[in-house]
Amino acid sequence: MSTDSLTALVRTIPDFPKPGILFRDITTLLADGDGLRDLVNRMAAVAQPLDPDLIVGIEARGFILGAALALALGKGFVPVRKKGKLPGKTVGIDYCLEYGADRLEMHEGQVPVGARVLLVDDLIATGGTALAAAQLLREQGASVLMALFAIDLPDLGGMVALEADGVAAQAIIA
Ligand code: 5GP
Repeated sequence: MSTDSLTALVRTIPDFPKPGILFRDITTLLADGDGLRDLVNRMAAVAQPLDPDLIVGIEARGFILGAALALALGKGFVPVRKKGKLPGKTVGIDYCLEYGADRLEMHEGQVPVGARVLLVDDLIATGGTALAAAQLLREQGASVLMALFAIDLPDLGGMVALEADGVAAQAIIA
């Protein structure tokens, strides 16, 4: 599938979740078997040479793509979740959003010290979420080989912010 065809499977919905926001909806891409396979194959082609120990996915759409990628590479998957969702003992990080603050958490010890991980999410906008997740992983003693996204919104500067923080970053669709 061409990159244009893949991009065309992503729907843009105006005024979600707030007026003035153009939300990129990937559920239309996920619902297309050829599109989903092509996206995961493209992500796997980027990730495979890095030979990560683990795939770490960010809630919620990062779980879908991260788990698919983990299966494609034969690696384990670790979820990074929003506050209060994980049942075991957690480690976490507070981070700022455009309006307000949030917290990301993961199970303590699930990413071993020294692990080489690939961070996955569906989309990068300002980069705030991925930066917080990368920081949390570093605090656990892991090294983040790359943050990999299906979609980049380049006008919002997230990739630049990640690279400035020393996190290599790549997206399949811009
Ligand atoms: P950031 O922290 O980079 O500003 O925002 C990225 C996070 O918000 C990701 O977890 C992503 O799933 C979600 N997000 C923000 N905007 C959109 C959007 O337009 N479409 C989708 N699918 N996710 C978005």
